[in-house]
Amino acid sequence: MTPQYFDIHSHVTFKEYDQDLEEVLVRMQEERVHTITVGVDYATSKEAVEFAETHEGFYATIGLHPTDTVTETFSVSEYAKFAKHPKVVGVGECGVDYFRLEGDAVEEKKRQWNEFEKQMYFAIEHDLPLMIHCRPKKGTVDAYEEMATRLESEFKQVGEKLRGNMHFFVGNVDVARRFYDIGFTTSFTGVVTFAREYDEVIQFAPINMLMTETDAPYASPVPFRGKRNQPPYIKYVVDALARIKGSDVGIMEKALVANAERVFLSRFS
Ligand SMILES: [Zn+2]
Repeated sequence: MTPQYFDIHSHVTFKEYDQDLEEVLVRMQEERVHTITVGVDYATSKEAVEFAETHEGFYATIGLHPTDTVTETFSVSEYAKFAKHPKVVGVGECGVDYFRLEGDAVEEKKRQWNEFEKQMYFAIEHDLPLMIHCRPKKGTVDAYEEMATRLESEFKQVGEKLRGNMHFFVGNVDVARRFYDIGFTTSFTGVVTFAREYDEVIQFAPINMLMTETDAPYASPVPFRGKRNQPPYIKYVVDALARIKGSDVGIMEKALVANAERVFLSRFS
């Protein structure tokens, strides 16, 4: 079944869905929403794979979030058990998060980059795209600039074996252009339904480099702000992107599904 919407980043295996997961799944079927369940550590990666295995329209990524679980280190041999699974479509969410760091935080940044690089090499080795979490210090694009520099230098070495998406993108046109130049896409969340500061970068983005995500259970769009998010709400994000870009909603829907399938489902085509 061709989906109408592709929510490229959600977490339906989190405890926030313990009460009503079945209802959410029915709604997703009715609205033809496919999604990628994203792992943030070993346990949630395993859950994401097992969930995708038994649910049509679900895929999984495996990886270690930069700050969610600081006690875990990325184990290449443990995660390798999942890398060949037919429903595993990416590595992540992995990356760097400077949002809550105090001062220079040299050691913590070093730890985050070390964990990210292990996952970047892992993704290249297993020919999988990266689902990158990259969050700068408030009011800056520092983490994006460093990430762009790191990816550009790796891209020079390995070319398109390095590929992926910048999840929950909150950067500006300058950094977006650098990611697009090496083939990385950017995905936007429900935040674009109420905040106007991303309009410029969305208008700048080529339509084939855009993706949409809910990041459910977080980041609910208008009219559900403050409530728990869920993948069926992806349509509000898609509608907002179409409005901001001044494009037809139907054309936008088709482009977003095609983009998600190109980047994440290439091994299925
Ligand atoms: Zn997430």
